[in-house]
Amino acid sequence: GPTLCLILGDQLNPLHSWFARPDPQRVHVLLELRQETDYVVHHAQKVIAIFAAMRDFARQLKAAGHRVRHVAIDDASNRQSLTANLDALISHYGASAVEWQQPDEWRLDAQLNDWAARQPIACQAVDSEHFYTARGEAAELFADRKQWLLEHFYRTLRRRHGVLLDADGQPEGGQWNFDADNRKSWPGNPPEPADRRPRHDHSALWRQIEAAGIVTLGQPQAADFRWPLNRAEALQQLDDFIEQALPHFGDYQDALSSKSWRLFHSLLSFALNVKMLNPQEVVQRVEQAWREGRAPLAATEGFIRQILGWREYVRGVYWARMPGYTESNALGHQRPLPHWFWNGDTGMACLAAAIRASLQQAYAHHIQRLMVIGNFALLAGLDPQPLHRWYLGIYIDAFEWVEAPNTLGMSQFADGGQLATKPYVSSAAYLDRMGDHCKGCRYDKKPKTGERACPFNALYWDFFERQAERLRGNHRLAMVYKNLDKMTPEARAALSEQAAATLARIETL
Ligand code: FAD
Repeated sequence: GPTLCLILGDQLNPLHSWFARPDPQRVHVLLELRQETDYVVHHAQKVIAIFAAMRDFARQLKAAGHRVRHVAIDDASNRQSLTANLDALISHYGASAVEWQQPDEWRLDAQLNDWAARQPIACQAVDSEHFYTARGEAAELFADRKQWLLEHFYRTLRRRHGVLLDADGQPEGGQWNFDADNRKSWPGNPPEPADRRPRHDHSALWRQIEAAGIVTLGQPQAADFRWPLNRAEALQQLDDFIEQALPHFGDYQDALSSKSWRLFHSLLSFALNVKMLNPQEVVQRVEQAWREGRAPLAATEGFIRQILGWREYVRGVYWARMPGYTESNALGHQRPLPHWFWNGDTGMACLAAAIRASLQQAYAHHIQRLMVIGNFALLAGLDPQPLHRWYLGIYIDAFEWVEAPNTLGMSQFADGGQLATKPYVSSAAYLDRMGDHCKGCRYDKKPKTGERACPFNALYWDFFERQAERLRGNHRLAMVYKNLDKMTPEARAALSEQAAATLARIETL
């Protein structure tokens, strides 16, 4: 019988060697599954985008002459579990073998391996042909180092792949890292790039998703949908980014603004994570733009570091630490998430904007995820597990291998500091320096105490006070503790009181 070739919803790469030429002995299987829509509550746009892209992928494979079996969410034959469907399809086709591309999530990897161990026919996982690095590579590179420094990993990969190197193999511009140049707030100029992403009408698909009873969060915006459906659209988006936004990406990489939800970010994470785009081609095109004088070096390096560095690195952390990583809670935080995480209804202007953007677009940029929402969550001591599920559900690009290390490691310090050398937290002063939200906010950025004091202020000091035993020894926090030590006992008590009062009314902040 034929070989069944399973394509997961985040494996929509038409350049994979599986598709080099049609082979009647190979049936490509795409499955829309309740198992996948239900392991966490996802944003409506995420479910739509993935199903729509899977359907488009199936159509294109068929048009290219491949055998395809696409099982829709409401297909009568759909058993809604990955392995139950495989069992049914094996007997239906009389298949003699099953292949799949290595999943990126531990959950699916374990499910497929357990299932395969019980099969009488040949089962085999092949490379997904997407990443620069193998799953276990970061773990090898860092061996038993306590801290995994991104910079070390990133430079190794720059050298290995000859990215942004001069003729002598040295980093272009004489330095590996231009972070110090990439920290401007955005004054409203240059104007934000035009959103040229295509619109698709997914209302029929959305009705199917609703009829199936799938629970989602956020706005489906079925008639005004801007996520790419396929590789051609993703490539167009990459070109638009390089032309319009890359030149300013570096300058405003860390900025926050009430006037622009995307600033100069690429919005490419969905296309990358479902593998419509390959990270190598993205990096090469961006480097090429710099070589042709179309972007400054600091912006180019800053962008490439996100993809060649961070993206590969967090994946390495994930595979080194799973299973168990998603349960980490090194700081012992237990507070439930306030209800306004699901409607953006808070008077803190920066948080309201970040959460509303997330609900409306299934997207928030990195600084909103890290320095607004994540910052508040860490300072307030929110339970990292429901927070992890919130992040895993809400973002269009959220898949556990990349979401969990970012949320639990980088943002919440829940892994005890493997990823981050210190907690990413700030008081209102930083938020005010990087953005314009404080001006229109119900709270006052300056005072630490009092009715109108910005909650970030007292929570910031109280966090370090609470965590002193664990964090005081960290030399990157020496200044914080020096400042705390300079305060009078009365001032410190007032801060703790303010923090306690703030947390007591967290639902109405
Ligand atoms: P840009 O700013 O244009 O960056 C370009 C690309 O670099 C991104 O598309 C992405 O592929 C990559 N990248 C940038 N930062 C990171 C990072 N820290 N880790 C991995 N890749 C990175 N990214 C996800 O793809 N999925 C997630 O579920 C996710 N969850 C996050 C949760 C938290 C708490 C934080 C702080 C960050 C998270 N990130 C996640 C990383 C980052 O915020 C997003 O990749 C980025 O905002 C996507 O938007 P963009 O494509 O416009 O990115």
